[in-house]
Amino acid sequence: MSKSIIVVGAGAWGGWTAFHLQKAGFKVTLVDKNGPGNPLSGSGGKTRIIRMAYGGSQVYTDLTAKSFELWEKYALQWNDRLYHQKGALWMFNGINPAYAELSIPLMKARGFRLDPLDLQNLAIEYPEINLADITSAYWEPKVAYLEASRACGVVAQKFKEAGGNYLEAEVTGIDFEKENISALRLKDGLTLQADEYVFACGPWLTKLVPTLKDYIYASRQEVYYFEAPDHYKDLPIWLEFRKDDQMFYGIPDHFGQGFKFAYDERTWSLDPDKDDRAITNEILDKMRAILINRFPALKESVVLKHHTCVYENSLDGDFIIDRIPKATNGLFLAGSSGHGFKMGPAIGQLITHHLTGKTAIPNEFLLNRFSQGIDRKSQFEV
Ligand SMILES: Cc1cc2nc3c(=O)[nH]c(=O)nc-3n(C[C@H](O)[C@H](O)[C@H](O)COP(=O)(O)OP(=O)(O)OC[C@H]3O[C@@H](n4cnc5c(N)ncnc54)[C@H](O)[C@@H]3O)c2cc1C
Repeated sequence: MSKSIIVVGAGAWGGWTAFHLQKAGFKVTLVDKNGPGNPLSGSGGKTRIIRMAYGGSQVYTDLTAKSFELWEKYALQWNDRLYHQKGALWMFNGINPAYAELSIPLMKARGFRLDPLDLQNLAIEYPEINLADITSAYWEPKVAYLEASRACGVVAQKFKEAGGNYLEAEVTGIDFEKENISALRLKDGLTLQADEYVFACGPWLTKLVPTLKDYIYASRQEVYYFEAPDHYKDLPIWLEFRKDDQMFYGIPDHFGQGFKFAYDERTWSLDPDKDDRAITNEILDKMRAILINRFPALKESVVLKHHTCVYENSLDGDFIIDRIPKATNGLFLAGSSGHGFKMGPAIGQLITHHLTGKTAIPNEFLLNRFSQGIDRKSQFEV
């Protein structure tokens, strides 16, 4: 008889994990309290970027290459355009572009490109972009944007079509018996039981497993959609790197809903249940100044739309995938740290291979790395 598995959380990671596990022959139940890719979750919102450049990291380069392959494969198989290739402009503002340079050989080995650009030619090609303070730039042709929330819904639907059981319910507690999880308690008083459990709860994980609070924190990520002239939709996806590990990015062509602009800083904390999600003027003022410096013609642009989203960060910016403390039959997937969406398909496959005994979880993702001391950094530090 096939093993039963409960996956808690139908965001990018839990949804793809449930889908791959179901396809591998497990009897899977996927549980989410608010629905796949809901607006409060880390996977909520319209779009996410998939890019291949990952500094000198082999483990992320491998996972991203696998993710590109799987997004393309399923978009084709399902005949659903979840994946929009646009190319991206990487810009470095007064800092060493080591992150880009280290990416090039690893990408090349996988058949991907990141090409250095001539700034004078770039200024001619994109007169809308002020390049005065940009010291180097690169072009990554395969970068695409993924439809975020919608993709989570599609993956959950495909999971159900493959025979998976989806349940909208809130898990409020975990029962343990000896070294095992024996059941999950639901808000409505019912319990759920399975042979194995996978927790992909994003920023809510620490509410179920409080000991993980030492390694995970949630941050407030505000996303703005500015009004822009119609031809701005022809600009590429762009990323700007500044000193002090600051990164800003935008998706100009955004389904006619404005010029998407956001930051990667994790300075502002967010309780995903309690905190207000309205615009923070302090953040908007900072963002507007950065936007106007880069795109001077957007000086008078108004914010058409706004979304406060949440990053679930590990202390060192790397994913954490490990056994639930004191449970041999529970895995948790955490610390997606603002760069996990693109990896959904590859993470789902990795967990499935792990639970079928084919692959170990990479050492880079295990919790015991923190016993060597914590190197606080973001995804873009090399
Ligand atoms: C503004 C922003 C921009 C980003 N940009 C990118 C990008 O360009 N590229 C990229 O790759 N990544 C990006 N990311 C990161 C990426 O979106 C996240 O890493 C990823 O979506 C996290 O997915 P997840 O499945 O781990 O968590 P989530 O999407 O948060 O899913 C967790 C799910 O678990 C459910 N849940 C939690 N607790 C319970 C419970 N007790 N019972 C039942 N259900 C529960 C929740 O309802 C939720 O649906 C961005 C994130 C943000 C916020």
